Amino acid sequence: MPIDPTLPYDPDNIFAKILRGEIPCNKVYEDDHALAFHDIAPQAPVHVLVVPKGDYVSWDDFSAQAPADLIAGFVRAVGTVARQLDLVEPGYRVLANVGAHGGQEVPHLHVHLFGGAPLGRMIAG
Ligand code: AMP
Repeated sequence: MPIDPTLPYDPDNIFAKILRGEIPCNKVYEDDHALAFHDIAPQAPVHVLVVPKGDYVSWDDFSAQAPADLIAGFVRAVGTVARQLDLVEPGYRVLANVGAHGGQEVPHLHVHLFGGAPLGRMIAG
């Protein structure tokens, strides 16, 4: 069920619980600004989610409201994860779904990192 990205942040969303350590994840990387873990239902040989350590519903919320150090740290973390997973030379895809048309289901900003094989068209036709 897609979420409404204009609603207030829900601190009980599943990624908030992962960030608080209340439910487990298959962790790939963590620093002061971000946590990365394997997607529970991978859609590519490599499918990792990177989430910022802050209460932001979506890319829209984050880009408008987050402090510059968190935005910079989060963007750098996405790049670091891709490098650590050796995705740079073969290539990879970064994706953030927002709201209903984007198909966003978890109301905590997350970036999908896909790789490990040719990924085909950018949007399913
Ligand atoms: P989105 O549609 O962009 O909101 O993507 C949400 C993603 O979160 C989906 O790819 C799910 O498979 C993934 N997901 C949901 N719950 C978990 C979980 N507990 N651990 C890891 N990935 C999850």
